[in-house]
Amino acid sequence: MKALVYHSPGKKSWEEKPKPELKKTTDAIVKILKTTLYETDLHMKGDLLEVTDGKILGHEAVGIVEEVGSSVNNLKKGDYVIISGITSCDKCEFCKKEMYAHCKKGGHVLGYTIDGTQAEYVRIPYADNSLYLIPTGFDKEALIQSIKTEPKKQISHKFRLGKLL
Ligand SMILES: [Zn+2]
Repeated sequence: MKALVYHSPGKKSWEEKPKPELKKTTDAIVKILKTTLYETDLHMKGDLLEVTDGKILGHEAVGIVEEVGSSVNNLKKGDYVIISGITSCDKCEFCKKEMYAHCKKGGHVLGYTIDGTQAEYVRIPYADNSLYLIPTGFDKEALIQSIKTEPKKQISHKFRLGKLL
C-alpha cells in the first residue's frame, strides 16, 4: 500500500509499505477514505522522539472497516468509522474517567508510537473503544472537519446523543 513515511527531520516520502495486519484480537484494519494533516506532520523536526525512521504519519481519519479481530464486537467489515487519533482500552483508570488521551495502553499513539492514518490502510488497537461508527447518510467530509476541532470526549458524547453536526 502507499503511505507517507517519516525518515528524519525534514525527510518524509510517499512510498510503498506492507498493508497492516491484525496483531491482537481487539484490533481492526481500516481502509482510509479521508485523513487529516496536523501541524506536527508538516514541521517534524525530530523533537517528537517517538516518531522514528519508517513510521507512517497521520492521526485522524474517516474510513471503512476492512477486517476485525475475533474480540471486536461492535464493528464489522464495511462499517464507516471515525478514527479520532486516540486509542483507548476503556478499562484503565484514565479511560474510566473519560481521559482517553491518557490511556495507559493507548492515547495519542497513531502517527507517533504506531503507524498512523496517512496511508491506504491502518491498524487500530482496541477497535471497539477507539473507532466511532458513522450513521448512514452523514457527510464524511464534514466529519473530518469535526474530528480536527473537537476532542474525543466531545465527539463520543455527541455521538451518543446523536448531536454531531
Ligand atoms: Zn485505557
